Amino acid sequence: MTSPAARTALDLTADLPLPALEDLYRDLHRHPELSSREHRTAAALADRFRTAGFDTVTGVGGTGVVGVLLNGDGPTVLLRADMDALPVVEKTGLSYASEKSGVMHACGHDLHVTWLAGAADALAAGRDTWNGTLLVLGQPAEETGEGAAAMVNDHLYQRFPVPDVLLAQHAAPGPAGLYAHSPGLIMSASTDVDIVVHGVGGHGSRPEATVDPVVTAAYIVTRLQTVVAREVAARESAVLTVGRIEAGTRHNIIPSEAYIALNLRTQSAEVRERMLAAIRRIVAGECAAAGCPREPTVTVGGSFPVTVNDIDTDRRVAAVHGEVFGAGTVLDFGPVMGSEDFPFLAEDGIPYAYWFVTSTPADVWEAAGAESGGDLMEQLAAVPSNHSPHFAPDLGTVGPGVRTLVSGALEMLSVR
Ligand code: ZN
Ligand code: ZN
Repeated sequence: MTSPAARTALDLTADLPLPALEDLYRDLHRHPELSSREHRTAAALADRFRTAGFDTVTGVGGTGVVGVLLNGDGPTVLLRADMDALPVVEKTGLSYASEKSGVMHACGHDLHVTWLAGAADALAAGRDTWNGTLLVLGQPAEETGEGAAAMVNDHLYQRFPVPDVLLAQHAAPGPAGLYAHSPGLIMSASTDVDIVVHGVGGHGSRPEATVDPVVTAAYIVTRLQTVVAREVAARESAVLTVGRIEAGTRHNIIPSEAYIALNLRTQSAEVRERMLAAIRRIVAGECAAAGCPREPTVTVGGSFPVTVNDIDTDRRVAAVHGEVFGAGTVLDFGPVMGSEDFPFLAEDGIPYAYWFVTSTPADVWEAAGAESGGDLMEQLAAVPSNHSPHFAPDLGTVGPGVRTLVSGALEMLSVR
């Protein structure tokens, strides 16, 4: 190990208050809050920032929290954690499982908040080792794709120093103790589409007097399966999933409308545009074929951008992580089909690095390995992933997730 950033990071995190950080994590896990309602979580994080010595403002873009530590001339670095939980019924059986029915930290954002609280504390306590400005940011509503944009629209970069670089990380399935970096594309874009098929309702015994939207919707769902298979080149990656289909009330009534909700995952704007055009064409074509009395309604709704790491920034952060955690701990899995709203914080092209911290407990990982007979992808598919009611990160990742942020920040700040 040679770099000043790695050496300083190990110094500053040598005596992390792990029991206190684990208590914070368990407390956050017990008290999850849905998107845009992260009041308790935001207050807890703001309290940590203030105690550490950051000038701290709450209520940014709703429930967002920003802490600022001015520490002499040098780069401005922003560390971000998202704070929201999901409408999931927890089934982990943990002693610190959610106490709020139907809400769960199933994506690990409670871990992200804990990591950021620990890193803010360690970097502030060690401020005599670095120069620059440190921004720490608790973001609301990542799951709905609204929080990052809400903070920017609430004049984030007019009210606080504009960062030179942004850093963020996410808990992910995989044997705890790996750090997945991808210089360039790391996460996909996500687009929601809502479709309404307008038919003509009537009695189930007299279909000839109706235009049945159920049958038309069924054709649409089936034909949409050709979009990725027949219209997207093999070298591209894309997913089209119909997540919701709804029509009708009773056995013997032909309804007058059918609803289809689908989601796209894409890695380039061209593929996204081509898929949206194909969806519009297929839906219009099937409705015309059925004789629908009105054109279908196709609404392109919420979307997440692609997450594209700045190559130089990501390589530097990956290198310092390799020094801190040792050979073989930093990997490049390539881009995933999941999505993030983090890039909305990178207004005007601020460079950023975003990486994954694997967090599956060793015993869970090994049990999955025994079942999958040595196939790594099967093993990965067998452990609880983000958004699963069984998602339960290893508490042993609390310290490492603080070290990733501290070492990444120090690599970007100027170490004395
Ligand atoms: Zn999530
Ligand atoms: Zn998440």
